[in-house]
Amino acid sequence: MLKRDVDLKAAVEAAWAAAAAHRGEGKVASYIPALARVDPMKFGIAVVTRSGEAIVAGDADEAFSIQSISKVFMLALALNRIQAMLWERVGREPSGSAFNSIVQLEVEKGKPRNPLINAGALAVTDAVIGDGSPDEAVAALLDYLRSAGDDGAVLTDDEVATSESEAGARNRSLAYFLSAFGNLRNPVEDVLSAYFRQCATAMSCRQLARAGLHLAFDGRDPVTERAPITPSRSRRINSLMLTCGHYDNSGDFAFRVGLPGKSGVGGGILAIVPGEASVCVWSPGLNAAGTSLAGAIALEALVERTGWTVFA
Ligand code: GLU
Repeated sequence: MLKRDVDLKAAVEAAWAAAAAHRGEGKVASYIPALARVDPMKFGIAVVTRSGEAIVAGDADEAFSIQSISKVFMLALALNRIQAMLWERVGREPSGSAFNSIVQLEVEKGKPRNPLINAGALAVTDAVIGDGSPDEAVAALLDYLRSAGDDGAVLTDDEVATSESEAGARNRSLAYFLSAFGNLRNPVEDVLSAYFRQCATAMSCRQLARAGLHLAFDGRDPVTERAPITPSRSRRINSLMLTCGHYDNSGDFAFRVGLPGKSGVGGGILAIVPGEASVCVWSPGLNAAGTSLAGAIALEALVERTGWTVFA
């Protein structure tokens, strides 16, 4: 619950101001050339509450590359599609390793630690493709985001997708490794094609916070009443975001922010405040684990002011 006497608009503006000086710190992701060109001084925040009202500051209406935040919504689609069978193919433990690590895949015989590291997300994307095509899987993601966010203007940035594919040796290695263990059912390049495009989805903080709102309300959007996922899946997705959403920085993020969250190397973070709100921050400078540096500071400041944490 919001602390008594907190003015949410003032809290959002204060959180933005508390982190603004850290813009430009950290490193903009450069292993995807199209992302390296983004202005490191960009910084936006959006908080969407139960009423659907958005409280924003900074560059909250500028679209950015959501990157791994897409994994949250693909996970929802995969669970809707193959239910608990997903857990035969992907684990639910934090990896303690980098987002694109291949080490555990060999030791654990092609079963990725969790659905939010790249290896796990590739298996999830394969499950979403199912018997269909990569184009259909990407369309399903866009439909999900447009419907959940009540906003039809969500698109794939093809330039980013192409750039990531051209620089995609690491993800290709992961995918071929998964395939060698029989953990991909579709042609490897089809899975990669869908994966690169899901990561290249472009959305603003306002759009992404709105699209995540159902995760704060048991899978049902409190405004439109649309329920893209069941309450138990929503709860479980939040638990995975909390334990695995920031790779080998997940413990630190839980310690500092105390909310389910998912980072993307585009500099976005989606954070869920169960029963209250959905928050998205964006600032392209990243820490060593690929989490937005100023973004995490802003969330820490917001939680401090609002009392919003799952650990209170
Ligand atoms: N598209 C990125 C990759 O696979 C996603 C990583 C991230 O956003 O954390 O390398």
